[in-house]
Amino acid sequence: MPVPGALEKELLKQIPRKPATEMYPFVKIEVPEGYRGKIEFDIEKCIGCGLCARDCPAGAIEMVEDERTKLKKRPKFIYSRCLFCAQCEESCPRKAIKLTKEFELADYNKDQMIIDV
Ligand code: SF4
Ligand code: SF4
Repeated sequence: MPVPGALEKELLKQIPRKPATEMYPFVKIEVPEGYRGKIEFDIEKCIGCGLCARDCPAGAIEMVEDERTKLKKRPKFIYSRCLFCAQCEESCPRKAIKLTKEFELADYNKDQMIIDV
């Protein structure tokens, strides 16, 4: 008759003995290619068309006045609302938006969670 718990012990012996967790934040992990993290915005490329704001499903982009672009507007990104879907990157005709591998975005203050160049 099997001893209660014996099967579990046998199964546990088969599992390779390596840590199941990373020592984050002491050890930085490498995120895979195509990871969608914090938005990088290049005002030099932006024409102020507003397509990014129009297509954002989360309402995370507001168009604000800015004299530096052709149409005198530019996006302001509120990444506390962002889904990191990359639709804005896809929609931008000037490739002014890029989602990076940066994932450490936590903040105590939601008002700080904006990208406003
Ligand atoms: S990544 Fe998606 S949710 Fe975030 S700002 Fe761009 S379109 Fe909006
Ligand atoms: S879609 Fe691109 S060019 Fe148009 S406002 Fe957004 S960032 Fe600027």
